[in-house]
Amino acid sequence: MLRTHTCGELTLKNKEQHVTLCGWVHKSRDLGGMTFIDLRDRYGITQLAFNMEVNKEICEQARTLGREYVLKVTGIVKERSNKNLKIPTGEIEIFVSNIEILNKSIIPPFTIEDNTDGGEELRMKYRYLDLRRNVVKQNLLLRHKVAIEIRNYLNHQSFIEIETPVLIKSTPEGARDFVVPSRMNPGEFYALPQSPQTFKQLLMIAGFDRYFQLVKCFRDEDLRADRQPEFTQIDCEMSFITQEDILNTFEGLAKHLFKIIKDIVFKEFLRISYADAMKYYGCDKPDIRFDMKFVELNEIVKNKGFKVFDDAELVIGICAKGCVEYSRKQLDELTEFVKKPQIGATGLVYLRYNTDGSIKSSVDKFYNQAELDKWIEQFKALPGDLILVLAGNKEKTQKALSELRLEMANRLGFRDPKVFAPLWVVDFPLLEWDEETNRFYAKHHPFTAPKPEDIPLIDKSPAEVRANAYDLVVNGVEIGGGSIRIFDKDLQNRMLHLLGFSEEDAQAQFGFLMNAFQYGAPPHGGIALGFDRLCALLGGSDSIRDYIAFPKNNAGRDVMIDSPAKISDVQLKELHITIHN
Ligand code: ASP
Repeated sequence: MLRTHTCGELTLKNKEQHVTLCGWVHKSRDLGGMTFIDLRDRYGITQLAFNMEVNKEICEQARTLGREYVLKVTGIVKERSNKNLKIPTGEIEIFVSNIEILNKSIIPPFTIEDNTDGGEELRMKYRYLDLRRNVVKQNLLLRHKVAIEIRNYLNHQSFIEIETPVLIKSTPEGARDFVVPSRMNPGEFYALPQSPQTFKQLLMIAGFDRYFQLVKCFRDEDLRADRQPEFTQIDCEMSFITQEDILNTFEGLAKHLFKIIKDIVFKEFLRISYADAMKYYGCDKPDIRFDMKFVELNEIVKNKGFKVFDDAELVIGICAKGCVEYSRKQLDELTEFVKKPQIGATGLVYLRYNTDGSIKSSVDKFYNQAELDKWIEQFKALPGDLILVLAGNKEKTQKALSELRLEMANRLGFRDPKVFAPLWVVDFPLLEWDEETNRFYAKHHPFTAPKPEDIPLIDKSPAEVRANAYDLVVNGVEIGGGSIRIFDKDLQNRMLHLLGFSEEDAQAQFGFLMNAFQYGAPPHGGIALGFDRLCALLGGSDSIRDYIAFPKNNAGRDVMIDSPAKISDVQLKELHITIHN
């Protein structure tokens, strides 16, 4: 090895030792008589000291070294007079007797510091330099640690990691596929997997019993902030289990990670049904770090002459504790907030429950004190509270109030990234009606099993059928989801039929799976957790990009290698592709 130690390990214990270090010039300071260089590697920073009086020649050499030069230095570990107790090597420095320049560097386009002067786009273009920055490097180290812990945990639970293919077949469900043309099969295409769903089910039929894989998945979806076209899942499947076993196993995994990484110990995760999540939080991934549950007012507010409420399918509100002092201006801001097109409410009704016990609402014209008292009762409000109410179509109003609830929580500082509130949302509906295409879609995916007790409803009222499907949610973010699967050919066929597949299409797309079901398929189910998102959550960040070594930008581009890119005419020809402009 070129070095005897790393730049992160020398301390007073090594005093007077002869050492050789390798690393990059992080910073240099020329103080006339003395020159100092911070030498950096993956492990830390060590100060190199050069004294003009002791060794003029090497001191002058040190002054010529530029930022990010790669050095091999030899010298003696000395105690520092000016100690920096913030870093592990801060009590020592190296009196250098020899410098070897392993490589030079041109001036980097931004500073390699935690608070760099480089903008996002520039850092992405020079991601290898961005990765030299401690903050970014730490994220990848965390990712590695989380991956190792996941593998350890699952290995101990008898899961085995099996790789599934990346060149597969396009399927019409779910998101859009990325496709790859096949040179040897003119006019035919592979698709990159959106998830290894069918393969992991086939592995259960093969008898592997407990499978997992840290696996790249690909979805050609419209890009939203912080979504990556390729991302990593912790993909898992188990046989001979019930939903309960899966929830317990993966709750165990989540608890293990929180303990190891954050030193947080959780009791049982809360579980709520999809129906309750919608009723109390208006969304299927509620942030339960704070309460502010929805309260329904339909019964007590209708038929009092207020048309907005009378015409509404749903009148619901939240109680913001201690917010009675909200000014006119603040209430106007909230009204503007809910009226934004992406939130979609038409207005906001409020009620102030003053500390002196009096009540003042924005609809006093329509409701007398006794009636408003009923609101207070319904919300279990206390003097000092502010009640905010929305009304309208059920789904829209739930969604809008859900956003308002989060907005209030942000304003009140209830969404502390250091606090974690995990929960399971269970009993998702099997199907989802799509107004635009006038058909049902699988809420999770077409392989999810209906609850056995709901099977009789499949023909009569498909929308009411619940599935054995579940999501793991932490702090309002869906960390993962899965389901118990169909393992019977006929039921799978029926499900595909419900989703609008013709007999031939079903056979062409999923014939291999239904065939396999006929050879002794065991009952099975599984889950997939978003690995990038999990790392971001554990790292205390909203951005998954920070936890991916080479991410794509918001437009799905890799600006470093400049991809996607055109291919040559020769390649196009070989692939039997003609581009029409
Ligand atoms: N394959 C599913 C997904 O990617 C997860 C599962 O059902 O296991 O969302």
